[in-house]
Amino acid sequence: MNRDEYGFETLAIHAGQDPDALTGAVVPPIYQTSTYKQDGVGGTRGGYEYSRTANPTRTALEQCLAALENGARAFAFASGMAAEDCLIRTLCRPGDRVLIPGDAYGGTFRLFDKVLTTWGVQHAPVMQTDLEAVARAAEAQRPRLIWAETPTNPLLSIVDIRALAAIAHEHGALLVVDNTFASPYLQRPLDLGADFIVHSTTKYLGGHSDVVGGAVVIKDPSHAEALAFTQNATGAVAGPFDAWLTLRGIRTLAVRMDRHCANAARIAHALAEHPAVASVLYPGLPGHPGHELAKAQMRDFGGMVSFRVAAGEAAAVELCAKTRLFTLGESLGGVESLIEHPARMTHASTAGSPLEVPADLVRLSVGIEDPDDLIADLSQAVA
Ligand SMILES: *Cc1c(COP(=O)(O)O)cnc(C)c1O
Repeated sequence: MNRDEYGFETLAIHAGQDPDALTGAVVPPIYQTSTYKQDGVGGTRGGYEYSRTANPTRTALEQCLAALENGARAFAFASGMAAEDCLIRTLCRPGDRVLIPGDAYGGTFRLFDKVLTTWGVQHAPVMQTDLEAVARAAEAQRPRLIWAETPTNPLLSIVDIRALAAIAHEHGALLVVDNTFASPYLQRPLDLGADFIVHSTTKYLGGHSDVVGGAVVIKDPSHAEALAFTQNATGAVAGPFDAWLTLRGIRTLAVRMDRHCANAARIAHALAEHPAVASVLYPGLPGHPGHELAKAQMRDFGGMVSFRVAAGEAAAVELCAKTRLFTLGESLGGVESLIEHPARMTHASTAGSPLEVPADLVRLSVGIEDPDDLIADLSQAVA
């Protein structure tokens, strides 16, 4: 379909998802097959020969993701980390350097810190809210990539994608944006100058906490061949059922995100007034340092809220165990609300590093339940 003719919600439901040519099935079938009959040697039907290389259910997901991010192509993987690994190994060679966020997602930091360094790819953390620091680091280090996240996890800082793209391109680097927290409904980094997007589709895109997956979306079609090659050569692809579940989630992304944002905003305001809460980190609050920037580059402020507990670490840990509706668990972006203690859970791998997160921090993934119920649950836990 011609994506320029249609709005986001329409693309989420129809891009890559034409009714099945054979049966008319409205929902793309789960092509649960590893291989395909050839009509004579090399006579593939539609190019499918083996499901590591390509599978029609995965193709449907990849076409939909490319449309939603306004990219040239998308590639679907078994996890967000697999997507990141494939992209980095496609673009970087031993000796290359990558500037990463000073508050990067813990798993991304671990990939650079523990795996990629042993293969000669170096990384340097820089707080990307400080654009001058990024420019200085780019000048000094001549990185191959600038790797960005916005909003960041778990501190919910907002970084200026347009400005980062300008710095990257001025220094001969490419800009990668991890768009997991915003989702393409709230933010489209390629339109703001980024070269690549990575997603953990496990989060908002899948949206129901029932599947792990990842994606890379590219802006320039000239990168397609190299990425497809590494994806096939290393093989961490999304399986057909995982691709199907992710696509099923994507169809309701827009309506889910609207509710995630509305609920998160109400909770952020409620927490901000609570005496047991030292500070609330939510870009939708007017006092947040990235508020104006978030307004300019995002459709809304997202469903993640972090806050610092005035009484400190022990109280933060205790609070996480006291909620009844907010489930204590890692991950985010599902319809159900989750609570966690980043320093001991998702971001434990950053302990002792420059990326260490505050011990009194609690992170919420605000779901789409009744917001009054969510606020009541937090109030009894914080009390
Ligand atoms: C979860 C997450 C990842 C990793 O994705 P997986 O699907 O868990 O492998 C990467 N970036 C961000 C921002 C995440 O939240």
